[in-house]
Parts: sequence; structure tokens; C-alpha cells
Amino acid sequence: MPVNYLPVNREDMECRGWDQVDFALVSGDAYVDHPSFGPAIISRVLEDAGYKVGIIPQPDWKKTEDFQRLGRPRLGFLVSAGNMDSMVNHYSVNKKIREKDSYSPGCKMGLRPDRATIVYCNKIREAYKNVPIIIGGVEASLRRFAHYDYWSDTVRKSILIDSSADLLVYGMAEKQIVEIAAYLNDGLEVKYIRHIPGTCYMADSLEEVSNGYIEIPSFKKTAEDKTKYAEAFKIQYQEQDPVRGKTIVQQHGIKYLVQNKPEMPLSQAELDKVYGLSYLKNAHPMYDRDGGIPALEEVKFSIVSSRGCFGSCAFCSLTFHQGRIVQSRSEESILHEAVGITNLEDFKGYIHDVGGPTANFRQPACLKQLKTGACKEKQCLHPSPCKSLHIDHQEYLGILRKLRKLPKVKKVFVRSGIRYDYIMADKSEHFLKELLEHHVSGQLKVAPEHISPKVLHDMRKPAGKTFEQFREKFFKINERLGKKQFIVPYFMSSHPGSTLEAAVELAEYLRDIHYQPEQVQDFYPTPGTLSTAMFYTGLDPLTMQKVYVPKSKTEKAMQRALLQFREPKKYALVHAALVEADRTDLIGFGPKCLIRPKGKTAYSDQNKEQDSGYNQNKQKNIVKGKLNKEQVNKDLLSKARINKEHKKKITEDSRKSRRTVKNEKMEKERQQRSLGNKKRNLKENQKEKHQGSRTEASGKVTGKVKRMSPGKPSGKVKRKHSF
Ligand code: SF4
Repeated sequence: MPVNYLPVNREDMECRGWDQVDFALVSGDAYVDHPSFGPAIISRVLEDAGYKVGIIPQPDWKKTEDFQRLGRPRLGFLVSAGNMDSMVNHYSVNKKIREKDSYSPGCKMGLRPDRATIVYCNKIREAYKNVPIIIGGVEASLRRFAHYDYWSDTVRKSILIDSSADLLVYGMAEKQIVEIAAYLNDGLEVKYIRHIPGTCYMADSLEEVSNGYIEIPSFKKTAEDKTKYAEAFKIQYQEQDPVRGKTIVQQHGIKYLVQNKPEMPLSQAELDKVYGLSYLKNAHPMYDRDGGIPALEEVKFSIVSSRGCFGSCAFCSLTFHQGRIVQSRSEESILHEAVGITNLEDFKGYIHDVGGPTANFRQPACLKQLKTGACKEKQCLHPSPCKSLHIDHQEYLGILRKLRKLPKVKKVFVRSGIRYDYIMADKSEHFLKELLEHHVSGQLKVAPEHISPKVLHDMRKPAGKTFEQFREKFFKINERLGKKQFIVPYFMSSHPGSTLEAAVELAEYLRDIHYQPEQVQDFYPTPGTLSTAMFYTGLDPLTMQKVYVPKSKTEKAMQRALLQFREPKKYALVHAALVEADRTDLIGFGPKCLIRPKGKTAYSDQNKEQDSGYNQNKQKNIVKGKLNKEQVNKDLLSKARINKEHKKKITEDSRKSRRTVKNEKMEKERQQRSLGNKKRNLKENQKEKHQGSRTEASGKVTGKVKRMSPGKPSGKVKRKHSF
């Protein structure tokens, strides 16, 4: 047994001289001892606090034996679905089963159940009566209240009820788990552990809840009334603050779900300690024969430098899980981990990432956040950066500089997302310059997500003009550096608020910047996000304004296709979308048209040569920013004139097309007539011949002639025709 991995079976326990573990941690992911994996952090934190922890990774949930593998734990079971919600892990946005699970050995699917947290807990209850069960991780955290579940298209109860667990730990759980362990170790029954921030429990009555709570609409009301759901979500969202947040209660039948306010973020010293624990930075060797755990490869040479995000993108659940207050590790801690990485056997000189949810957020948005909490009604970056926002990249730059000077390090990349609006708000160019000079591998991925002001508002993303300004700056700096680097922008289709017209607007923007995304991400209504609440209710919970939600398969397909309008395969959908959006002015031959009229060769096939947009060199130039603003404005000003010309052209085209069709029809008829004549002649000739042969053979009909008879085809002939 590799001594330093935590026990996964009885033999491992015996090697350590243990006859019982304090905690058995059941996880939907394979066992990877790396701080990018939640179960690894929790198990090492508890080990550091003096507890004996065993791991039960990906147990067989159809029987109880796997849950009994380590015996009954002294203090309780800890259950997590893994690093992802099990439904997101299993299904694509189209609710189709995914092909791979990168958190399982060799990407094998089917090693965890749907709704893993619930299934595991119920199996543990079957195996051991009255054992304390504490659930945590992303799945439990984001399903802690009554929530909309995209896969069943219903509002589900809190996962705490469905799982029958005793306690739910939400957010990053290090502080909570150590406190819970201490109480259990002191002999306090789990049902009395009710006061720890960052946890949820079930109460029989409101009298059991200490003062200062807010009651939100019940499960029943939220399931029956979408407005109530939006109201409940707004309170959950706004109270998600460790400084000013209040306890929230939500009735579920005869019981009450109680959410204590969020746990305070870890201090820098605490965070350093968590990341400095004795992780082996590897997957358990039992997976070697199956090809290891692919998810590890993405993070093995990466360093988590921060947590939390004040970006508030509506489709991201991070605010709800890690919170708005950014916490960061110290320079020493990051450098120490980096040196450890450079000493790994398979280190090739490249540190793949130094970041967090947002790489360039290294400190809280403002001092007020720490004293009185983050603003309830205001976002730090949306619709534009708050005046109180503390903008500084110096400290992060200092760390990156030191990392790239380390022995054996050839290059340090920054691959976590960066917020370009935060960069643009920085008066100094130093960060962007050094980022482009040293930490980008030729392409910088950024996520403007859309271009329509309405959709960007619903997404809580920066305005399109900020992206334009960033692009300009990006290419200017690259030019100064003499580097050829490109921006890869990510766009999302069918987000709440995105009408077909907005999707056409985005397609036109892509046409103007001559960029075609290789992949398009459809909005995925995952649990716990503001956008998911919009998707379900058709309301923006923060404003209670109505929001358009594209839901039909056809419309979603059309919106997605518009983003890749040059793809010949998408032609029919794009055509249908433009007709539906009353934008047939974009069907034609002019430079502003997205596609050709029907019956003509699809856009990209016919115009690869003359269409500068699809020409690689030009595309690079444009994405590089050589299509200057003046030119874009000029284009926009001439749009009306061009549209008029297009309409004229379309009319001409359709006239031409009608003429052509008419001519073709006439020609076809002529050919059919001539063919008919030929057949008639042939028949008559044959008739004459048959008559001749009957005469010659005294009235006997030959076999050959019989098979040709239309009334009685032989089996052979019939089969031939069937094919
Ligand atoms: S004052 Fe501004 S930066 Fe500070 S929390 Fe409020 S919105 Fe964010």
C-alpha cells in the first residue's frame, strides 16, 4: 500500500494500525489527492486536525457492501457527489448522456449514480442506522434550498430532505468541518449541532431557530408559483454574505430548512495552511491500470492562487458557493508549491496556470466588503466598475515575475479566466503587457459571452464596447511586443434575455469581426445560478422584470446555428432563423449577408475565395484589430443603404431564380415527353417482335418475356427493386 494515501480499504487501515476510522468520506469522484479536488482538501484538513479519515471513492451504489468497506466510522460519514453536480457530470445541456467522465478512471462513465449525494446517503442509512451523515460539495451546496432542477423540469425540495442527511455544509467547508468534527468528538449529538455558519439543518419548528432569521416562500409555494420562486431566490442571493447575511428559513412540509449565514472566508494564513497540507498531488495508484484520472492532468502543474469572485456573472454559481469576497494565498505559499511542482518527476518546465475563479482577482473588491459586507443591491463590476473598487494587479504581477525566474521553469501560463473589464479599469498597462509578453501561449481566451446590450445586462456582463476597447489594447500591445497573438472569445447562445433578434445581432457582430467560433456553448441551467432562476421563472429575480427565455429545441438550435452561420450544415437553421426574425435582408450576395438565398451554394462553399471574412489571413488581421473602429462605424452607417441594395438584389435573385425554375421545368417536361415517345416506340417494337416470336414458336411465350411481365415479377427482380 502506498503509505501516504488515506486508507481506501481494511488492509490500508491495518497497515496504519487503525481498527476504526473517525470519518468515512464517500465521493462520486475517483480518489485524487490534489487540492483541486474538494474531497482531498476535506480529508487532509481533518487528518491535520488529528482525525482518522478513510476514503470510499465511487462506491457501487446498488449494494451496501462498498459503504461498509471501512466499517462503521466512529464520528460519521461525509458525502460528496464530487467536484461537479452529478447531473451536470452525466448529461449535456441537451440532456444527452455524456461520453466521458474525466473524474473517473480512464474517463469511464457510469461509476456514480444520478443524484449521487441522495443515492449514497440512502445506501448508508441502509447499511448503518443512526450514523451521522454530513453532506457537502458542489451538488449539496447548490441544491440546499428548494431549487429548480433542469433535468426533471421541476422544483425539487432541499437536498437535505431527499438525502435524509443530518447536516449540510455549503461553500468551502474547511472551517465548518473541523468545527463539526470537534463537537462530534466531544460527544455532542449531530442533531444539536445547529449554530455553525455555512451549514444547513432541518428544524421541527421556527421556535428552534435563533433570532434574526428571514423566512422565504416555502417549497410548496415556490413549486406552485414562479413569482414566489423568484422572490425566494432574490433573498437567498442577497443574503449570501458572511458579514451582513442573515439566517434564512424555508418551510418544507411540516419542517423548516434552516440556512445559517455563510462562514467567514479563510484568512491568508488559513488558506496557505490548507494548500500546504501533505497532498500527494496524484491519483491513487489503483487507477493506473485504467489509465489514471484525466481531470488530474489539467491541474497537476497548476496552482490555485485565489478563491471567491466579485464578477457576479449571472450564469455562474460561484457567488453562491465560494462567495463574493476574494481570498488569496501568500506569495511564499504559491512559490513553495511551485518549487514542489518543479520537482515532480514528469515536470517539463511549464506551470500551466496560476489562478482561481478569476485569475486577476487577488484581493477583496473593496475594504467595505470586509467591514460591513458586499453591497446588497449593487454589483462590483456591473454595469460598470464601482467607484470604490480596488484595482491593482501589482501584487499578482510580482508573484508571476518570481515564478518565471524559478529554476527549471520555462514558462508560466495564466489559463484561468481573466476579467478584461477589470484590466481596462486599471490605469496601468503593466499587467496586460506582461501577461501578453510572458503568460499567454499565442491565444488569450476571454468570455464576452454576447454583444446585445439586453442579453449582457441579463448576464451581468460588461458592455460590448469594453470588449472592443480591450481588443484594441490587446493588439496594440502585441504589436509593440512584436508578437502574433490572438483573442479567442467565448460566446453563449440562448441565455435568458436572448431573443432571435439578439442572436442575429451577435451573428452580425461575428461577421463584422470575421470570427467564427469553433464551439458554441448553449446556456445550461445548472442549479443555484441567477440565470437558472430566470430560465425557470421568466423573471429577473433581482428586478422582478420579465425576461424572454428561449426554450424550444428549434429556437435554441437556430440561435446556436446563427453563431456559426458560415457552416454549410447550419444553412437551413440560419435561413429559418433569419426568416423568423424578419431579417431576410441578411440573405443574399452582398458583403453584409450571412447566407446566400436558397437553392444557391451555401455561403462558405461558394465564397471562400472572395469572402475576406472566411479568408484565414484576413480573419487574423481583423481579429488582431486591424479592422479599426472607423471602418466598423463606416460599415454600420452604410448598413441601411446596403440593406436596401440587398433587398433589391434578393428580388432580382428570386426573379432570376423563378425564371430558372420555369425554364428547368419546361426542359424537364420536354425530356419526359421525348422519353415517353421513345418508350412507346420501344414497346411497339417489342410488341411487334413478340407477335413475331409467337408466330414463329407456335404461340409459346418464352421465359424471358414472362419475367418482363409487369404483373408477375420474380422474387429476384422484386428484391432488386426493393433496394
Ligand atoms: S462598494 Fe462597490 S466594490 Fe464595494 S462591495 Fe459595493 S459594489 Fe462592490
